[in-house]
Amino acid sequence: MDRNDRIMQNRLDRGFFQYQYELEKKALDVLRSGWYVLGREVSSFETEFADYLDSKYCVGLASGLDALWIAFRVLGIGAGDEVIVQGNTYIASVMGITINGATPVFVEPDEYYNIDAARIEEKITAKTKAILVVHLYGQASNMDEIMKIAEKHKLRVVEDCAQSHGAKYDGRMTGTFGDIGCFSFYPSKNLGAFGDGGAIVTNDPDIEDAVRVFRNYGSEKRYYNRVVGTNSRLDEIQAGLLRVKLSHLQELEDEKRAICGKYLSEIKNENIILPQIRPGATHIWHQFVVRTDRRDEFMDYLDKNNIGTIIHYPIPPHLSEAYSYLGLRVGELPITEEYAKTILSLPLYNGMTEEEQNYVIECVNRF
Ligand SMILES: *Cc1c(COP(=O)(O)O)cnc(C)c1O
Repeated sequence: MDRNDRIMQNRLDRGFFQYQYELEKKALDVLRSGWYVLGREVSSFETEFADYLDSKYCVGLASGLDALWIAFRVLGIGAGDEVIVQGNTYIASVMGITINGATPVFVEPDEYYNIDAARIEEKITAKTKAILVVHLYGQASNMDEIMKIAEKHKLRVVEDCAQSHGAKYDGRMTGTFGDIGCFSFYPSKNLGAFGDGGAIVTNDPDIEDAVRVFRNYGSEKRYYNRVVGTNSRLDEIQAGLLRVKLSHLQELEDEKRAICGKYLSEIKNENIILPQIRPGATHIWHQFVVRTDRRDEFMDYLDKNNIGTIIHYPIPPHLSEAYSYLGLRVGELPITEEYAKTILSLPLYNGMTEEEQNYVIECVNRF
């Protein structure tokens, strides 16, 4: 490898070129079909994705954020209600709650970066209506414990699977444990489109019907509107391209797992804490997140060695300016805040060459 070639934290062109001919053919087919929104590609994708997850229903939507807020909307969770969510998530998880006027109640993460199930019950109040489980970085959360708590307190469970397409807990796909699973197909996700996209999966026919109607102006039949809905439709091109990607998802997952396996066995540096795999869970490696007390120095060092990294995420939602109205302060969630200061995501993408992987490992070990 030419050392002047920068290794980016993520690059989507490589993933595209792996299936270039199939993807280009599908895009042309859709362009020539004359049908661009809610057609055959969308309904085929919905069936195929539901089958892949072993879920009864899937409804395609315009984004992962839409999937989240529409999920709470159709469950009737809004003003005056509280929803439990981990503190160290992408802010979209929290917006899915607050767009509906509900209040997020933050819980600290465990050592696998997912919600710490042992800390959920202390946050449950008379107002708590649901737990939003985020399978962060591609690893399934502790669903056994979470589902037990939800049943005991009669809470709804919504899963944010924006980073966990295909990740399993106890052999079962994430997104199929709770009432609703929410997916994003943003290009950088493990099942990524070439623009925005999202979906809701559920086993409940009433939820499926409510989401299907809501996404299209609340209309069941054209120009007959049952509820005040929204426009959140997956378009035909994205659905068609997602069908191509879905047919290769296992290969894409295996490739990332091999890269991360190599990172796990060959990165040896006592300053760097490697990610761990939860017993009973599978990890689909949306991100490979390491931790170090000297994070900013480490990031700088890698940058000088032409290796790009990203912090997922530098500001926890409760300290974000957007959520200053919640009145939460520094020190509120010490573990979440500590993670935000020490985590770093190493380069990881489909189509990453062995030479690139070796160079990253070599530099990390030299730090
Ligand atoms: C990407 C992401 C979302 C939002 O998905 P969009 O499709 O970008 O709206 C929500 N939650 C998590 C955890 C995400 O990573």
